[in-house]
Amino acid sequence: IIEVSNVKKSFGNVDVLKNITFTVDKSEVVAVIGPSGSGKSTMLRSLIHLEHVNDGSICVQGDYLVKDGIYANSQDIKQITSKMGMVFQHFNLFPHLTVKENLELAPRYVKKGSKEEISKKSRELLEKVGLSTKADVYPARLSGGQKQRVAIARALMMNPDIILFDEPTSALDPELTGEVLQVIKQLAEEHMTMIVVTHEMGFAKEVANKIMFVDNGEILESGKPEQIFTNPQFDRTRAFINTVL
Ligand code: ATP
Ligand code: MG
Repeated sequence: IIEVSNVKKSFGNVDVLKNITFTVDKSEVVAVIGPSGSGKSTMLRSLIHLEHVNDGSICVQGDYLVKDGIYANSQDIKQITSKMGMVFQHFNLFPHLTVKENLELAPRYVKKGSKEEISKKSRELLEKVGLSTKADVYPARLSGGQKQRVAIARALMMNPDIILFDEPTSALDPELTGEVLQVIKQLAEEHMTMIVVTHEMGFAKEVANKIMFVDNGEILESGKPEQIFTNPQFDRTRAFINTVL
């Protein structure tokens, strides 16, 4: 469903993504792990064109966002990236909008259905993430775990085929991470295609089909969780896993 090949990205003279190549299959859950500053966020952000890469190709469901460093036109970029939702570490909810308004803003803006349909969908999704009673509350009144569940529901409003999570639980107190991981796990059971940057190794082991270890702007190795966790090919991978376990 996603094919990335030879993607390169630098900020100034710092090569942040050196040569990123990977594929994600439909319904696959990929956990991305790796040290701070290795390029995980930049890699994820590149997929929805929050970062503009310098070279390489990104193909989503058969359409090239960028091919050999040449981007599609802006209309096509919009079309391709609209298939993906993203959930950030710091939730990025709009503080001046209620929970329900946060959910309905984007679909209303692009007229994704009638007012009634959008309203029905936001009710359903709030129920799905266990927040039916919070529809008319402002984000400031929510716990971190609740905010993140709102952010997930908001991403789902646009019916994405793929959801990207950038450390969805790392801003949360430990007792609140479970409720967010539970929602992601439920999405996995419903066969949502997801890429999750995470330091939660237990979650990665349990839910992911594939682990990608990013180190210094490259995917040093990738494979099934049991292989990466119990028998990594590289000392770097082993060392990293030992520091986070
Ligand atoms: P973390 O685990 O801390 O979130 P990461 O793996 O997500 O790290 P990135 O945020 O992708 O790492 O950053 C990779 C490198 O790119 C870092 O050296 C960072 O300082 C640099 N970088 C990221 N964004 C920018 C930017 N907008 N301008 C300049 N440098 C940047
Ligand atoms: Mg990051």
